Amino acid sequence: MKILVINTGSSSIKFSLFDMNKNLSLAEGTIERIGEAAAKIRFKAPQYNIQLEKEGNIPTHKEGMVHMVELLTSGEHPVISGTQDIDGIGHRVVHGGEKFHEPALLDADILEAVRDHVPLAPLHNPANLTGIEEAGRVFADIPMVGVFDTSFHQSIPDYAYHYALPHSFYEKYKVRRYGFHGTSHAYICRKAAEFLGIPAESANFISIHLGNGCSMAAVRNGKSVDTTMGMTPLEGLIMGTRSGDLDPALHFYLAKEANLSMNDLDRIFNKESGLKGIAGSNDMRDIMAKSDQGDPKARLALQMYAYRIKKYIGAYLAVVGKLNAVLFTAGIGENSDKMRLMVMENLDHIGMELDSAKNSAPGSGIRDISTSPSPVRILVVPTNEELQIAMETQKVLKTMG
Ligand code: ADP
Repeated sequence: MKILVINTGSSSIKFSLFDMNKNLSLAEGTIERIGEAAAKIRFKAPQYNIQLEKEGNIPTHKEGMVHMVELLTSGEHPVISGTQDIDGIGHRVVHGGEKFHEPALLDADILEAVRDHVPLAPLHNPANLTGIEEAGRVFADIPMVGVFDTSFHQSIPDYAYHYALPHSFYEKYKVRRYGFHGTSHAYICRKAAEFLGIPAESANFISIHLGNGCSMAAVRNGKSVDTTMGMTPLEGLIMGTRSGDLDPALHFYLAKEANLSMNDLDRIFNKESGLKGIAGSNDMRDIMAKSDQGDPKARLALQMYAYRIKKYIGAYLAVVGKLNAVLFTAGIGENSDKMRLMVMENLDHIGMELDSAKNSAPGSGIRDISTSPSPVRILVVPTNEELQIAMETQKVLKTMG
């Protein structure tokens, strides 16, 4: 069975083709800067000796989808002979609100429901919808499934997802914590349970996703019971350009004192804050290098970043109870031994003992970086959101018979 995974952004399409019989990625590509003078196209399919990077004229997502099919089907050794080789398509959808606890087969009613959730994710859901609609035209008869970033967190109990605001805001405007990165948290929790040889349904984890966006999930008996991102992805940890947790009264203060509009504050908190706001770059590698050279702002940014994670580890230990493992994933979580060390420093007294040699040893797959006697395991688990979407899509297709 071959599944194509599509992640559509406002000016980009990312795609991966999987052979599910072998759990293998056959090809992956990105088309970025759609609608700009020159779109950037990357495509690779190592088994077919294909690796290309070029610029092209891709004015709309429609042309992007057509180009994606061309990349998969043309050349000396095409990855597939035609769209008929694809059994199903999985679309990443950012916001499924309270409606979607599971992935869903995308029919007209489900699409309408995704459209209803646009106000909750005004930047992401419209792009995801465009991707679904355009793919629907190109792959007319191939079943398509929506996999939602929010679904994994629908198990969070009401006392943890409500904000202490007038209850009518929840009823009228759907104001509550939803959480994101669900696909990544779900994937690494399953992988970690497999690695530890424990049933996923009884595993207790603190899952830490540190990419450009960052979030943590408290996972009890395999289910998310709390997460750091909230109604929007702005809440929680310090991120590349997002502030994470703030005093909400800052809005009123800054609006008045700095004469900033709602739009200004939205832009500043989401795009000009976090690591970038503190140290001038949203790239962890730059900040690490600057800190090594003695830059005080870079050092402060690293300390703040690690401290926020540590604080939530303490909180989530209290929430979950007896833990099996703390899991690190995504660009920073998988690659930065220095950040993992800063986060896990002095947590021995709560049963989390990092082995600094194992932590700094090079490695690429799933690995245990805790000391042998550590009561709580500490694992690095490479994430693979695309594969998780492909697997969820396959599961839905199987139920169709
Ligand atoms: P996205 O959320 O866009 O998928 P990634 O998961 O790729 O992001 O994470 C990007 C972050 O990972 C960047 O801050 C980058 O600097 C950081 N990163 C990648 N490799 C390393 C590394 N070797 N050491 C430290 N940080 C790294």
